[in-house]
Amino acid sequence: MEKLIFGAGKLGVELTPGQLGKFQVYFHDLVEWNKRINLTRITDYEDVQLKHFLDSLTVLSAVRLTDGLRVIDVGTGAGIPGIPLKIVSPGIKLTLLEATGKKAAFLEHIINRLGLDGVELVTGRAEELGHDAAYREKFGLVLSRAVAPLPAAVELTLPFCELGGLCIALKKGDIKEEIQRSLRAIDAMGGRIREVKPLALEGLNDTRYLVIIEKLKPTPPQYPRRPGLPVKRPVLS
Ligand code: SAH
Repeated sequence: MEKLIFGAGKLGVELTPGQLGKFQVYFHDLVEWNKRINLTRITDYEDVQLKHFLDSLTVLSAVRLTDGLRVIDVGTGAGIPGIPLKIVSPGIKLTLLEATGKKAAFLEHIINRLGLDGVELVTGRAEELGHDAAYREKFGLVLSRAVAPLPAAVELTLPFCELGGLCIALKKGDIKEEIQRSLRAIDAMGGRIREVKPLALEGLNDTRYLVIIEKLKPTPPQYPRRPGLPVKRPVLS
């Protein structure tokens, strides 16, 4: 886990032997399960450390994950970025939301295998869970990576965010235009961009960004719209 140790150090995160052991098991089981079910294209040992684990930890450069903070990872797939953050910040209360049952089966396995407490797994769609009173506007931090283009992603994530909370989308590549296209949707969901934070990750030469959105007003009750619509017909200017 040399790459991860080094990159995390740059973020000011000193990983303990116990945490490194968990990352090692996570890597191993991810690659094993990936032979049977499609979890990720990234399976090389160094790539997983950088593009999955370290990329997840970059969230720590923007927010402090204090004990008891409620965090939801929308469209978590194989647990990215939620599980790496939970390994490093075990005091958070984490909800993992994933639409695909097969991926949820892996998540259930890995939560148990890593002995993670305070993790709730929900198999379902953001468009539906976003209207559930137990989840709507109940999270101080809402995370997403690679779930949908930003105009749709904000409709899938901002409904979960409590007033005064943050939504962070992990992005890479050229995102200027995508951000422009999402401004109308962000406003409609009651949010405002606080910062687009560029990240230079040790060992990766692409530029990554945290799109950090604050929730200022309640999301109007018509959002999120029914399953599929946020992606098919995003709220645009
Ligand atoms: N966040 C992970 C997975 C990205 S792939 C990572 O960065 O590696 C996108 C995942 O989001 C898929 O597993 C897909 O099943 C899930 N997803 C897409 N739309 C969703 C929705 N509306 N509600 C819940 N999960 C969704």
